[in-house]
This record gives sequence, structure tokens and C-alpha cells, in this order.
Amino acid sequence: MSNTALMPIPGHSDPVPVPRDITPREDGRIDLIGLPKKRIAELFAEAGLDAKQAKLRAKQVYHWLYHRGATGFDAMTDIAKTMRPWLTERFVIGRPEVVEAQHSTDGTRKWLLRTADNHDFEMVFIPDADRGTLCVSSQVGCTLNCRFCHTGTMRLVRNLTPGEIVGQVMLARDALGEWPKGRMDFADNAGSDDAGSDDEAETEYTADGRLLTNIVMMGMGEPLYNFDNVRDALKLVMDGDGLALSKRRITLSTSGVVPMMERCGEEIGVNLAVSLHAVTKDVRDDIVPINRKFGIEELLAACAAYPGASNARRITFEYVMLKDKNDSDEDAHELVRLIKHYKLPAKVNLIPFNPWPGAPYECSDPDRIRRFSNIVFEAGISAPVRTPRGRDIDAACGQLKTAAEKKSRAELDRLYAEKQAALG
Ligand code: SAH
Ligand code: SF4
Repeated sequence: MSNTALMPIPGHSDPVPVPRDITPREDGRIDLIGLPKKRIAELFAEAGLDAKQAKLRAKQVYHWLYHRGATGFDAMTDIAKTMRPWLTERFVIGRPEVVEAQHSTDGTRKWLLRTADNHDFEMVFIPDADRGTLCVSSQVGCTLNCRFCHTGTMRLVRNLTPGEIVGQVMLARDALGEWPKGRMDFADNAGSDDAGSDDEAETEYTADGRLLTNIVMMGMGEPLYNFDNVRDALKLVMDGDGLALSKRRITLSTSGVVPMMERCGEEIGVNLAVSLHAVTKDVRDDIVPINRKFGIEELLAACAAYPGASNARRITFEYVMLKDKNDSDEDAHELVRLIKHYKLPAKVNLIPFNPWPGAPYECSDPDRIRRFSNIVFEAGISAPVRTPRGRDIDAACGQLKTAAEKKSRAELDRLYAEKQAALG
């Protein structure tokens, strides 16, 4: 299998090298995180086990990695003691490195993470009364340049590998103490006498008592420009023998990479969120520049055709509220018209703009947002206003990373011009 491949998406700003499958390490060992069971079995066979042994060991190791969260081979108690050093010599169980972890007063947690080759990216956990949502990154930076988004001001460094994507979920489970302890049948785990230390008892893993219940691919990057890696990572997250999170609890957000949307529905099958943010060509071309390539009509038609969308599984339209830019009554009416015209099973998420230093916009006034929401709501479409979370730790997209590498306004403008030129 090749280490690098190009995404088959036309256009010069899109394809970026995808380090895939196995990223070589200096010590020659192979990181197993991000690999499916079948691939692990192949590697065990290549390392010298006979086919039957390789398959059996892969099954056991896979279970320990993704289901139990083991971070070392010594913890794998059903694997012979003599076998464990053999594994340790050849393989590692990686996690992204934590550079910084922040805790907001409202419970939101944010991590600045680092890849093995020293690229920083972010992950955010947002607890609510009835759920806990992990916001996962798909790329370091982003090739796109939405005007209101801090990540858009960063250069794309590279796509994250499946291991780095699924590794975020695993790291969150580590941090939240959410791996099953003791027996495997979670639901009746309570009272099990192998619960161990106080710490373990406190974080006992039951299917409905979890902190981390939902995943959104809404961190740094455009997930549909890193399709294969995002798909491979989410397969591990959704696998009943793996992290076992239902696809109904996973949402992928795209700025509108139309040619990949059908495959997203078919091959991943998760909920779709679309960063619409504007209803006219002029405004969307300006604030979500991918619109010049895939326009609003094309995007909404792809939404109407999205496999699996229904009234029970609605498509979320994200709409960031920018003062005097996209927040008029006319905009709200046009949004309703478009959703009805394309007969979309839709809900609208109104996101108060989270300002960052040098941002060219302000957030709409609360009264304006309320009025916008009411117009959409009165047309029978749900349009809640998202409460900003973790503001004290700058938990919005791209902010922790950029705090570490501040750019001048002139440099931001130059980057914007560069990316616009690339979009053609
Ligand atoms: N690239 C994907 C997913 C990551 S962005 C996409 O664009 O959909 C996730 C969401 O955060 C998007 O809806 C994006 O528009 C929104 N967002 C980015 N910067 C923001 C800001 N400063 N304030 C509010 N929302 C923002
Ligand atoms: Fe990239 Fe999404 Fe930010 Fe746009 S909003 S620049 S697509 S991360």
C-alpha cells in the first residue's frame, strides 16, 4: 500500500498529499492506531506469524486497542506473556501528543495536540445536560479560506491520518476516563468486583452513562477534502467491535464539497451538516469562497440527494450570524424559500459569530439573531441559536492554535488573496 496518494478531486487548490495507512517512524516500529483489523492481521503475518495466529492475535489486539483503550501491549492479559515483547518490539500504540489542555468555567475542554512530525491541531469537548460532544479535526489548517474562520487564515499543513483522527476520540476517552473497565458487558458492569481502584469505579463504563456521546467533524479542516482518512477513522469509531459509537451520533460538517457528498452518505453514512452561511451568490462567494466552485443551487441539490437524509435524520444548515452581512429579514426569508424549494429535511443552526483578533466581521446583535430565528421558525423549520461555549478558553475553531502563531492583518490579507487565486 502506498504511503501517499492524491485525493481524486479536480482543481488545483484541492488535492493535497495524504499520508495514508502507515506513517514511518524513526525506530522502525509501526503504529497500529488507525488500522483496521484486517490490516493488523496482515502486518502480524508479514512479521512472521502464520495466517491463523495472525488473524486471532489481530482480533485480540484490535479489541484491546479500540474497545478497551489499551495503551501498551502489557495490558493485554489474554495474550501470552511471551508474545507481548514480540509485539512491543515491532509495534506501538500511538496517541496524539497533548501540548496544552484547557478547561473552561462552563465545562468545555480544549486540547492543543501535536502530530509525531510536529504539527499542531485542536480538539474540543463540549458537555451538555443530555450529551457530550467531541469536536474533531480532520486537517492541520485548511485549504479553504472562509472569511470569518480562524482556521482559514492558516496554511494547510497536511491531512490528518486515520490514526490521528481516531486518536483524538481515543485521547478524549483517556482524558474522560471512559474506557470500559473489568468485564466487557458494559450495561451490567455496575457492581462488578473487578472495578479496581476508586478512580475506576467512578468512571465505570455503562452504555448510557457516558460523557462522550457524540462526535462532530467540525474542528480544523475540511473533512471532505480528506475523505479516505476521515472515512477510515470513522469506520473504526462506528465499528461495534471498535469504539462502537452509532453513526446517528456522528455529524460531518462540510463547507460544500459537492462531488464528495454522495460518497459521504454512502460510504460513511453519518449525519450531514452544511456550512451554508449565506443565501445569495455574492455574499457566499465572498465569505465561503468554495461557493465559486460549487454554487448554492448545486450544493442544495446534493443535499436533497444525500443518502439517508429524512425527517428523522435532518441535514443541519450552519449559519454564522455576521452583522450587516448575512443577517437581514430578506436573508432569513430566502433561506426558508431555498429549503422549501429543494424540499430539504432541514434544521438550521444559527451560530453567533465568535470574533478573533483581526476578524473582518462583528457578530449580529442578539435582537437581530432572534428575529432571524423567528422568521425561519415561523416557516416551520427549527432554527435554534447556538449558545457560545468555552469563550474564556477561545474554544472556537482555530483559536488556540492561532493564539500561538499570531499573524499580521497584512499577512492574513495576503493568504486570503493566495487562496482566492487558487480557487480560480
Ligand atoms: N470545514 C468544515 C468543518 C469545520 S468548520 C466546515 O466548514 O463546515 C466548523 C463550523 O464552524 C463551520 O460551520 C464554520 O463555519 C464554523 N465557524 C468557523 N469559524 C467560526 C467563528 N469564528 N464563529 C462561529 N462559527 C465559526
Ligand atoms: Fe476551512 Fe471550515 Fe474554516 Fe471554511 S469554515 S476555512 S472550510 S475549517
